[in-house]
Amino acid sequence: MTDNGLPLTALGGWLGAGKTTWLRHQLHAGLQAHVIVNEAAGIAVDDALLSQAHGLTVLAGGCACCDGRAELVAALRHLADRHSTGEAVPEIILETRGLADPAAIITAITDDPLLARHFRLTGTTVLVDAANGAAELCPGTLVIHQIRDGRH
Ligand SMILES: [Zn+2]
Repeated sequence: MTDNGLPLTALGGWLGAGKTTWLRHQLHAGLQAHVIVNEAAGIAVDDALLSQAHGLTVLAGGCACCDGRAELVAALRHLADRHSTGEAVPEIILETRGLADPAAIITAITDDPLLARHFRLTGTTVLVDAANGAAELCPGTLVIHQIRDGRH
């Protein structure tokens, strides 16, 4: 990780925790960000995100922390390529699916030499809605694990 890399924030939290709402507010407040959305296939991407994001990548093939990791890496490599050719790429917000494991996503980036060189992880934001429980489980990931990792 280099200090001058592209800032990347992983946004976690399960379905109903308000990830999209939070992100919409950030964009409305003027945040310039390329948004990577890891939604389950068949779920429409929020219209406000489409119109307000500085760029949008949809990962529909799988969960970015496990079965869709290759797709995430490919998407980030594409952004890194654009960045290295001099294109202005804004900071990147990765909206993870349901209970994706942020630690696994961070590992996917730090383990890839090219991505490690191009991106700087600014942190993990985990939104928790205490009223609505775990609706969307990533296989093998525990809620408590995500919350703990998100509070570094
Ligand atoms: Zn996963």
